[in-house]
Amino acid sequence: MRTAIYPGSFDPITNGHVDIIQRGVQLFDQLYIVLSHNVNKRYLLTLEERVELTKEAVAHLNDVQVVVSENMLSVDFAKSMGAIAIFRGLRSVTDFEYEFAMAMANRKLAPHIETVFLTADPTYTYLSSSVIKEIAKFDGDVSDFVPTGVAHKLKTKFDD
Ligand code: ADP
Repeated sequence: MRTAIYPGSFDPITNGHVDIIQRGVQLFDQLYIVLSHNVNKRYLLTLEERVELTKEAVAHLNDVQVVVSENMLSVDFAKSMGAIAIFRGLRSVTDFEYEFAMAMANRKLAPHIETVFLTADPTYTYLSSSVIKEIAKFDGDVSDFVPTGVAHKLKTKFDD
């Protein structure tokens, strides 16, 4: 059984994330989407909302599960789930610099866990959770960029 994890904030999940998940699960038997929750980080959505929206967005996929990791290193979480790889998505050179450093650090901490990079689909290279939140905040239409549930949730968040 080859298991991988895909850690991130997913605040909120976008179509770019879903694309990485769909492609990633084809390479492994099982993929855990790991929603990181860090007490020092500010999120727009609550942990419960992020979990619910992420589950909804991947409900059509077999062998994908959504789990939560609180204040834990990705490599330690991977080990605890019996995973052999950590997925990350790469959109740009800016992503690369950060991700490369993180992958090196993780390799030092846990040499047996591989970081696997999937390059973003060209349709989604400009998509980030922050851009989505910025558009939604000013009442822009995000329906082409995120799963339906996310678009609805953002609307209610910013209408409040
Ligand atoms: P983090 O806070 O850990 O960066 P994110 O939820 O923003 O978490 O992203 C999780 C992973 O998904 C990261 O590897 C990020 O580079 C990748 N990612 C984010 N947006 C996209 C996208 N549009 N296409 C491909 N990968 C993406």
